[in-house]
Amino acid sequence: MDESVQISNCHPALLALLIIAGCQTQTGTPYVTEGTFAEICESLPGEENAKLRLSDVSDDWFQVYEVSEGVYSIVEPYQFQETISHLILGEQRAVLFDTGLGLLPIRPVVERITSLPVSVLNSHTHYDHVGGNAEFSSVLAIDSEYTKANMSGFEHSRVEYDLTPEAFCNGPPEGADVSTFYTKPWKASRYIEDGEILNLGGRTLEVLHVPGHTPDATALLDAENGLLFTGDTFYDAELWLFVPESNLDDYGRSISRLANLESNVKYLLGAHRSARVDAGRLRQVEAAFQKLRSGRFTGDAGSGDPLIFRIDGVEFVTAQPVLDGKQGDISNGGSGLDTWP
Ligand SMILES: [Zn+2]
Repeated sequence: MDESVQISNCHPALLALLIIAGCQTQTGTPYVTEGTFAEICESLPGEENAKLRLSDVSDDWFQVYEVSEGVYSIVEPYQFQETISHLILGEQRAVLFDTGLGLLPIRPVVERITSLPVSVLNSHTHYDHVGGNAEFSSVLAIDSEYTKANMSGFEHSRVEYDLTPEAFCNGPPEGADVSTFYTKPWKASRYIEDGEILNLGGRTLEVLHVPGHTPDATALLDAENGLLFTGDTFYDAELWLFVPESNLDDYGRSISRLANLESNVKYLLGAHRSARVDAGRLRQVEAAFQKLRSGRFTGDAGSGDPLIFRIDGVEFVTAQPVLDGKQGDISNGGSGLDTWP
């Protein structure tokens, strides 16, 4: 094994994440110990977000940063997903790229920022990015069976692992009932395709369908302003390729596609943890991912347990069936928390 690579089951640095992975102990209870998320809570807003100016439209749950002129990142830092939705303004209309966890409504936050008509588009349809979709009448979506299955929402039992006391910095937000919480169903008002240009008036966004993390993973390129919104294909934390709908062949093609755009981009805007990081990271991820796929590194997989690979400073969380190229049953979609049987 290469010295730069460590493989383990249930890596302690990822305890918080593994709550949602449902990483199981022998007794079948969620794997939770004294977590690193508590440490992350102590260090909020985190190194990258601390460099940004916090907007005064922020509130006790949503932290809003203006990350580029007319682009607002709406961060939910106090739940361990540290989910980020990005509101991108043109002169005539706006796109909300993801709608967050849905524990509290996001639309009032959006309305504090802009009065423009807003269309939602999701970086992918895992539960932590579609929580507020039902609050909007204009929702653009990738035309896939997986996406359509996810439109029916996620019942409580599919998201409850993310609602344990350990999943929050200071407990759930006031006004959210975590004992009954579920993701509301939503509808697409229009389907979009790879390569489509969204014209917001004075700003254009190119839709990039980049499957891998999920079949419907999508990125957005604002070429003129040097912004690449990467969703969960890249964000500034451990990269998840764990769930039954993840596909490593697709991911490899997608990360290379995005890496090829990187030299013309100034900032990467992912969907977790850091609202904005400098471009330059995608080539690193691509190279590390190629090492992961080389087959030189194998872990002793437990059934369904995540495998963590740390390669040259990039961390991937995957699972043996994904490494083996298996595809789980996604006829019911995937919440992002559904594990291998
Ligand atoms: Zn995510």
